[in-house]
Amino acid sequence: MSIIISSPLCQLNGGCLGCCGHSFPSVKKVQQAVEQNTQEFLTAAPQTKKEFLQFRDRRRPMDLRHGVCRNAVSLHGCVLCPLHPARHDGDDLRQGHCDVNYFCATAKKFARWTKERQDAFMRFITDKKLDVFTYSLLMDKGKLLREFEKNNL
Ligand code: SF4
Ligand code: SF4
Repeated sequence: MSIIISSPLCQLNGGCLGCCGHSFPSVKKVQQAVEQNTQEFLTAAPQTKKEFLQFRDRRRPMDLRHGVCRNAVSLHGCVLCPLHPARHDGDDLRQGHCDVNYFCATAKKFARWTKERQDAFMRFITDKKLDVFTYSLLMDKGKLLREFEKNNL
């Protein structure tokens, strides 16, 4: 079995934070949490690796905000993790804070599909024109996968 190290589904549709928390109460509450996180991030304005780690460690990993990790922010219309290795020359500042090897069931199944089926699923998602928060919650619950599979056996 191949090991997933990234999935295009995590960046699709403005990004996904479906696995950046637990028991999300509602789309509205998740959006509020990310907005507050973003305000804190912009105020802290970390530049160095040490400052990013200080931002990360301002709260414990399981001290979530409306079920959302306090590091999930929204910048330029996309939700993202400012600790991701892509932003730190390959250094993964998420290490020790969350499970960096975790991928949802949808991403794992997607990785085993043909390119044609993957493209069809991504088209199916983008055609829905979901906001990033609705997309994230639907991904978390596996609902998009179930709906797609119902119509594309
Ligand atoms: S819930 Fe799935 S698609 Fe969304 S970020 Fe996590 S692994 Fe990626
Ligand atoms: S540290 Fe980043 S990747 Fe990990 S749960 Fe929080 S926002 Fe998501």
